[in-house]
Order: sequence, then structure tokens, then C-alpha cells
Amino acid sequence: MFKPVGSRVSFPQMEEKALVFWKENTIFEKSVKSKEGQPRFVFYEGPPFANGNPGIHHVLARAFKDVIVRYKVMKGHYVPRIAGWDTHGLPVEIEVEKQLGFSGKDQIEKYGVEEFNKRCRESVFKYLKEWNSLTERIGYWVDLEHAYKTMDNSYVETVWWALKQMWDKGLIYQGYRVTPHCPRCGTSLSSHEVSQGYKEDTEDPSIYIKFLISGESKAKLPADKPVYLLAWTTTPWTLPGNTALAVAPDAEYVLLQSDNDYLVLAARLAATLKLEGYNTVKKMPGEELVGTAYQPLFNPHDFSVERMRFQEGGTLAAQKPQKNLTYRVISGDFVTMEDGTGIVHVAPAFGEIDHEAGKQWGLDFVQQVDLQGKITGSYSFAGKFVKDADTLILEDLKARGLLFRRETIRHTYPFCWRCDSPLLYYAKQTWYIKTTAVKDRLISGNEEINWYPEHIKNGRFGNWLENNVDWAFARERYWGSPLPFWRCEKCGAYECVGGVVELKNKPGVKGLPEPLDIHRPYMDDVTFSCGKCGGKMKRTPEVMDCWFDSGAMPIAQSHYPFENETLLEDGRFPADFICEAIDQTRGWFYSLHAISTLLFDRPCYKNVICLGHINDAKGEKMSKSKGNIIWPEDVIKKHGADALRWYLFTASAPGNPRQFDMKQVEEVSRRFLAMLWNVYSFFIMYANIDNYKPSEGAFPPPEAELDKWILSELNQLVADVDASLESYNPTDAGRKLETFVDGLSNWYVRRSRRRFWKSENDADKLSAYNTLYHCLVTLAKMLAPFTPFIAEELYQNLVRSVFPDAPESVHLADFPAADMGKIDKQLAEDNRLAMKICSMGRAARAKAQIKVRQPLEHFYVGVNSESEKQSLERVVALILDELNVKEMKFETLERMGGLDVANYEVISESGGAVAISTLITVELQAEGMAREIVHRLQTMRRTAGYEIADHIIVYYEGDAYFVQAVSAFADYIRQETLADDIEEGVPDDVDLQEEHKITGYHLMLGVKKVK
Ligand SMILES: [Zn+2]
Ligand SMILES: [Zn+2]
Repeated sequence: MFKPVGSRVSFPQMEEKALVFWKENTIFEKSVKSKEGQPRFVFYEGPPFANGNPGIHHVLARAFKDVIVRYKVMKGHYVPRIAGWDTHGLPVEIEVEKQLGFSGKDQIEKYGVEEFNKRCRESVFKYLKEWNSLTERIGYWVDLEHAYKTMDNSYVETVWWALKQMWDKGLIYQGYRVTPHCPRCGTSLSSHEVSQGYKEDTEDPSIYIKFLISGESKAKLPADKPVYLLAWTTTPWTLPGNTALAVAPDAEYVLLQSDNDYLVLAARLAATLKLEGYNTVKKMPGEELVGTAYQPLFNPHDFSVERMRFQEGGTLAAQKPQKNLTYRVISGDFVTMEDGTGIVHVAPAFGEIDHEAGKQWGLDFVQQVDLQGKITGSYSFAGKFVKDADTLILEDLKARGLLFRRETIRHTYPFCWRCDSPLLYYAKQTWYIKTTAVKDRLISGNEEINWYPEHIKNGRFGNWLENNVDWAFARERYWGSPLPFWRCEKCGAYECVGGVVELKNKPGVKGLPEPLDIHRPYMDDVTFSCGKCGGKMKRTPEVMDCWFDSGAMPIAQSHYPFENETLLEDGRFPADFICEAIDQTRGWFYSLHAISTLLFDRPCYKNVICLGHINDAKGEKMSKSKGNIIWPEDVIKKHGADALRWYLFTASAPGNPRQFDMKQVEEVSRRFLAMLWNVYSFFIMYANIDNYKPSEGAFPPPEAELDKWILSELNQLVADVDASLESYNPTDAGRKLETFVDGLSNWYVRRSRRRFWKSENDADKLSAYNTLYHCLVTLAKMLAPFTPFIAEELYQNLVRSVFPDAPESVHLADFPAADMGKIDKQLAEDNRLAMKICSMGRAARAKAQIKVRQPLEHFYVGVNSESEKQSLERVVALILDELNVKEMKFETLERMGGLDVANYEVISESGGAVAISTLITVELQAEGMAREIVHRLQTMRRTAGYEIADHIIVYYEGDAYFVQAVSAFADYIRQETLADDIEEGVPDDVDLQEEHKITGYHLMLGVKKVK
């Protein structure tokens, strides 16, 4: 006996039971351990932050990781896998700052770094419980107990070791460069962080400013009115830092005259600017303007701001105050004629190109903005945040007649990926890893990686590598792996420390905390003696970019090389498989690839599933402010984890962007899982009635074509699903499974119902049981990686309850192997045609409004070929039975049109046609009536609460017409309703009686169970 199951099921409840079973019997641990010694499949878990509630996108990634890894285990691989947590960096710090109500770094310093970091450490796992419980609830199997954490001393030590390797290879340097800087977080960001925060359609001022030409340059120009150079900018706050204007030497410039002044700008742009009241006085090449002197908009000395100048080699030297300061026009190949005026405002403190021009031309350098993005000095707008200063600066310029035109522009602008502040490009000294030194190897290494979808390789990821820039990896922050660089206070020499023991053994080392904590502020207090001059070595204050931490996980999770020193050779490196969302092409995918290439000159992963973004049902980004976030728990509570997983696998190919629709999860649950459950519960119900016992091993080959057909389909399915999963495509595999279950339910079971129902235990019935049993067990095993819960439920009941020696769980079973000898392409084609004809036949009936219960005389099938005809002849019995028609006749497609339309209903579609005879004779009508009565009686059996196998007595009374029909079809009715007897007249002691009205006739029916 199998455990009885109802046709209705609560998937969430069924899943909870599976979870308990797995936990109590440590099935996950066994699934790993039992494969020890088998070929290893290496999987790396990308560490998420656990300081926020996990969302649907996390479930997406976890589901795709899980399906591949479970599949590999069932294919015989040893796949130990541990969870990991990203614990350092801005996301954590910002969270704590919010809790404390801080808005800047000075408040943190005042509060104390020790206390601040203590809070960071606590906040890291604020949602750990939620993460762990969701991870378990969705059936994502990963070792949570031994998870690696990027803040562990051992982890940080490996990060130090990695940096030391790069340091020794000369790949780390300090550069004075313009870097994207977050004024709120007070730190530089790396280019991959910047790339994650671009926002389109950002509104900014678009302004045209007049720079007054002065000094000796003025002499060459008309003297009757002031002459201005017209420049354009979208960042007014950089104007006080202007120290040059650039022109394109080969372009044509014009001198324009109005009643009040002269203007100089590029000829091409003068036309597009539509300047009214100006006429051209002179034309000249840009070259002629180079060297022209003009007055600064703001002389820095008047506003207590230091003016410096680029020296040979790129260093800066302070300049003496100068009353009549002038700047000059330079030529620049970066000047385009696409927008603006053809005269570019240059502020070397605030732009990468500007900075380079500054070095090249030996320009002045004025930086009137601090690291919080506030204007310094004594300007009227001093103390303001740059974006707030914009308006005040424009008012100031307007009052002085220097603002020519003011508009707004919508363009793409970068924002901080963590705190959403607009980024400022800002010149400062910071640490770099020279990734450009290994650019070629980064690119050739990428060729060795399989990307799913493939276009990422040479698209998003490849382009990113092609445009590689050095990695600005230092953060002027608090909670992170501290940089292992110490600097001598006396001689300025640097030393990089590559491990704890190395640090402990430094001469004159002082301040090592006990117990050890490799974090700020403790590491800030560690000093030792300079190897060169004996001076005091102090640590540089910065911490690491947290992307470096996560990118170092292949080695840092194992504390390599301090432990697991054979890691790189013993098969644990590189990963066979990783999987995250597309934003990681510039995040984790990149940092993994860069670090591995820098350290080991090779990639650290072979196959990547790169998932598309997930939005809400309308395609909008899910966010708190929009209130459209869908929490995974809510979905699971309603529909279960299997439904959610299945939806994520099959709704869209992994790489495509998706729109998450709760209704679709419900639809998936109904269409696929409930359909599967119906087949399963149907099987259990009849198998228990007939006391069916599956035989161990192979069963005798079936005679019935239908059995042969479904077994052919099943083996084809096993081959297909295996191949799809092998090539990292769970979506195709899932869709094939769906098609199979549909065929199993709507063709195989539907057409086999009577075989199960017939009461004699003949060979055909046994064959049907064997076949359906085999299909369900094989399905359970194939579904195990996709929908681990329902697969377990099926397996436990179908397999374990009968074979106690079988593997304890479906997840400890082997993945099915296809028997290619059972695949019969002709049979598949015959049945495909039969299903198509039946679908058209049902449509024709519906169109003619004739119920399927009403038998019909014949129908025509339009065929295209002799082979099609032969196909259909082989499956004619199935078709006639399914369509409830007495005869199938063939006709060529052309001649189908010649039928008498009055007596036929025709349906034709894509190269096929079916014409159903709509003539209903008296005999056919009586037979239809008998079927209708059977249908009513079956409903009454259910209403009366009878078991499927209960025998009954049927009583009836009514119009003479019925009495005739019932007696004519008595055998048929008896057989279909398990009635031992049919008697005219309904007595009082029946279990249930009902009055029915069928096509205008009245009929009283009664049923009584035979005890
Ligand atoms: Zn920020
Ligand atoms: Zn020294």
C-alpha cells in the first residue's frame, strides 16, 4: 500500500514536511559526504550582505545555483559547498550611520572608530536569521554552519597576503589622480562601483559663461567694447577652479559683435546657438586663439584659496598671491563640436581630462572643494554643498554680467551605488592596483570562460576588460580590511605586510591587540621600526574596497596559503561554476577575475550563469519607495518554494531581464505542479485499490502502443534534460519537463483511464501500472534538482514505501539515464499527430456546440501524405475514443473544402483539417443520453462520499424515453458506475437521490452502496 494522497494538496505544507525530513536525517550532509572520492565539482558561493532582508532577486540567484549543483551531485560529483557573507564596506557603514543619525565622517571620528566598528560588526548579521531561514525554506543547499565571513581574521590575513604578492610584483602604486569621489561617504570609488550607479535623465544646469579677455591679448582685438570667450559647462561649482580654456586648434572660430560686447566661439556652434543681435566680424582658426589671456571668474587669492601649479613630473607647487592674475587659452584634442561652444572650461582639480591637460600644460591648480563636497574659502557660497552652490554661483556671475545663458540639461550622471549622492570627480592621492598591466591576460583568460548567455563574454564583460583602468582599491573609511601598508614617519619608506606572523616578527613591533583583531582602530596603533632608517612605521589609514574582499574568496575562504596550502593543485581551484546577476560583471565577476589573474595568471571560474535583472510585473524596478517589493516569504507562504523555483526557471531564459508576476507563480503552480500532483494522486488511488506492487528492476516490455509511446517520450526527455543541464540551461530542461507532464496527464493518463478502471487484473492493466509508475519515479528524480520538495514527496511514497533499501532520499539517488533503445521516433510522430487531430476535433465540437459526451457518426481528416495517413491509422482507436466518434475517414486536404457544410463542422489549422459530422441520429442521441446519465451518476457517487471501488445499486424513474435508454445501455451504465444492479423505481432508503433534467426530460436517480 502506498500512503493515500488526496487530489488536493497544500504545497507549502507538504514542503514543510520535507524540510523536517531533510533536517532530521541530515540529507544534505549525506548528499555531499556520500560522494567523497568521486570527481569534484567546484562551486563558489558569491557572498551577499546579510544586513538587509533577502529579496526575490536573491532567490533567483540561489535557485539557479542550486539546480545546477544538485544535478551535478546526482550525476555522481562530490560538491562540498559553503555559504559566505560579505561583511565589510560602505553598505554596512551607511546602515550604522543611519542608526546613529550620522551624516558624515567627522561624527564617526567623534563617536570613536572602535565603538563604530563594533556596531558595524553587530549590524552585519542583523538579518542573518532571515537569510538562513529563507535559504533553507527555498531548498538552497549550502553549508550555512561553516560559512566564510570576509571579516574573519583568517580571511583578512589572506587578503593581506594577496596584496603583498601584488606589492612585490610592483603592481601597487599611489597616484595623484582624479577619481570619482562620494562626498557623503567621503571616499573614492573604483570604476566598477561607479559603473553601477549611473542614472539616466539627471537634471543639471547647462550654462554659458563669458570670460573677459585681458592684458596684452586685448590689444590684438577691437577696443571699443569688452571681448569675451564663451564657454559652456554643466557643473557651475567647478568654475572657481577654472585655470584654462581649451579650443580645437583646427576648427574655425568666429568673433561676433553686438551692441554691447564681442564674443568668441566656434563657428559651427555659433550657428546652432541661435544668437540674436550678433553679427560676425572675423573668422579665425582655433590655433590663433591659443595663448590668449583672460581674467579668472574668481581669483583664488581673493577668497583665501590656495593656488598651485603643476610642475615637471606632475607634482604641485604653491603659488604666490597675484593681484592681476590671468589664465590662458590652450589647445586640446578633447574639444569637440558636438555641444557647448567649442571652448572648454578646464578645472584640473575636478576632471580627468582637465587634470591631464594641467600636467601637460603646467596649468594652475585650484581646489576649492573639500572631501565632503563643500566649497571652502571665503566665497559668498562657501560652506555650501557643491550642488547647492550652483545657483548661488550663477547669481554671482549674473550680477557681474558674466552669465550669458542659462538652461537645464538632462543627461547621464554617476551616483554613489550605496548612498545615492551625486559623485564628484576629484583630484587626490590614492592607491591603485595596476590591473592594466595584466589587461591582455584578463582578456585572453575571459576566452577560457563559458558564459551563459554567451553574449556576455565579448559584450558586457569583454568590453569592460577592453576598457580596463587601474583599480582604485583604497577607501578612506573605517569598517573594512585595513590596508597592510606601513609608512616610515622619518624617511617616508613604505612596507607591505603579508600576514600576521610577519607583522608580529617586525623589529620593535608595538601595539598588537590581544586577542587579535585585524581591523581599525587596532591596526592603526600597531607600529614597528623602519627597515631602512629605524624610524617609526605607522599604518596608512585607508581600508580596502570590499569588492577586493569578495573577489579574494577562492583563496580567502580557505585561509590560503596559511592553511590548505595545496588548494590550487588539489582540485579545489578554479571553480567549475558560479552564478550571480548581471550587475556582477563589473562587481564580483570582475574582482574574482582580476585578483586571480594578478595572483595566479589564470581565471578562477570556468562556467558562469549570468542572470538578468528582475523587476515587478509592470517592468518597474522594485523599491521601498514605490512600495512594489514582493517578499519571497509571501510568495512561498501562498504557493510554496517549488512553485517559485519552477517559475524562476521556466518563465524566462536565465540571462533575460524578468518581470516578476505573483499571478504567474500561481499559474505555474496550477498548470504544472498541480497537474503533476493529479497524475500522482490518480496513480496512488488506483494502485491502492488494485493492490499494485511495483517490481524491483525492469518490468516486462509493454504491449500497448500507448505505454511504448510514453516510455519513448520519457527516455527522450531524460536525454534532453540531461543535455540541457549539462550545458547550464535549466530553462530549456524545465520547459521540456513541462511538455512531458502535459502529455502524460492529457494524453497518456486520459487515454489510459479505462485501463486502470477495468476490474480484471489482466496483463494490460499491469503494464499500464508499471508504465505510469516508472514515469512518475523517473520524473521525481529528474525534478529533484528543480523542485526538490515535490520530488521528495513522490519519491518517498512511490519508492521508499515499497523498497526500504532504496536510497533514503531522492537527493541521494542517481540522475536517471536514458535508454536510447526505447526511443521510437515513429511512435512519437504518430501520437503527436493524434493529439493534434484530437485538439482540432474538440475545437470542431465546441464550435458546433455538441458535447463530447454525445457520440457522432464519423469525421474526416485532411491528410498531407500517405505516411501521415499511416500514422493516423496506427492510432485510430485512441482518436475515436478521445473524440467519441464512430469512424475516421480520410480525405485529401484539397477535397475537404468540397464537403456539404450543412452537415459538417470544419476546423483547419497549419496544414491540417478536421470535419466532424454533425448529424445526430436517434440511436446516437440515446447513446449520448446513456453517457450523460453515467456522468450524473459519477457525480452523485462523489457527492454521496463513496470510495472509488465501492459497488452500488442504481435506481431510476422517469419519462418513457429514459426507461428505454437506460435499459438499452444497462450493461454500459453498470460497468462505468460499478453498479451491481439497475432498478426502476427509487425507494426511500437510498443514500442519495436527485432529480435531473436532461434535454427537457425529467429523470429521478438514486444510489445506494452495496455493503
Ligand atoms: Zn556614498
Ligand atoms: Zn625610515
